Amino acid sequence: MLVNKMNIILIGIQGSGKGTQAKLLNEKYGWEHITTGDLFRRNIEAATELGLAAKKFIDKGELVPDKYVFLIVKDALDKAVDGFILDGFPRNMEQVRFLQENFSIQRVVLLELPDNKAVERLMARRNCAVCKRDYNILFKKPQKEGVCDVCGGELVIRDDDTEEAIRKRIEKFHNETNRVIEYYAEKGLLSTVNADQPVESIHNEIITKLGVE
Ligand code: AMP
Repeated sequence: MLVNKMNIILIGIQGSGKGTQAKLLNEKYGWEHITTGDLFRRNIEAATELGLAAKKFIDKGELVPDKYVFLIVKDALDKAVDGFILDGFPRNMEQVRFLQENFSIQRVVLLELPDNKAVERLMARRNCAVCKRDYNILFKKPQKEGVCDVCGGELVIRDDDTEEAIRKRIEKFHNETNRVIEYYAEKGLLSTVNADQPVESIHNEIITKLGVE
């Protein structure tokens, strides 16, 4: 399918399925999926200077200071010449301003999910220690408990998926990101999608709202 290049933002509470939906859009339309959380985790694994600086904040469930986020995100967005799906950025108004000064955004999609559902989903999240593939013991179980279907790696819980850190991230989301949502709503760029439904239904609603079916 031929679709114009699009730069979009997927926004929603942690656990709302942004990553899953971004992957589906990437597979279908080729827009680069850019997740600031993953970019940081990769830098932490490679023990880069940036990764080590960011780790202190991530482990506590706090947002990484903007100066590090901008370094990591600018590089990734500059490379995404066929369009991008931003997942996990922007999370505050400084990040919105940074984006506005450097890139154009066609649409912002808000995935809406109640807090208690998000906590439930995040506590059930598992990742392969080897290939990073994600699972969820509630609705995306591996065939064999604790083992990756694809590479046989061990499934682990992310360091920052403790209940305390999750609740802290949700609180941060409400405190900081609500202003971001309001801003894009005022600009007429926001589409809201109910994230408490099956993956495929959410995906269909998103593409309808993007007008790319
Ligand atoms: P996530 O995978 O989106 O939950 O991100 C994991 C962690 O990375 C967050 O808890 C933050 O510490 C950090 N992080 C990811 N994206 C951002 C961002 N846009 N601004 C600040 N910190 C971020």
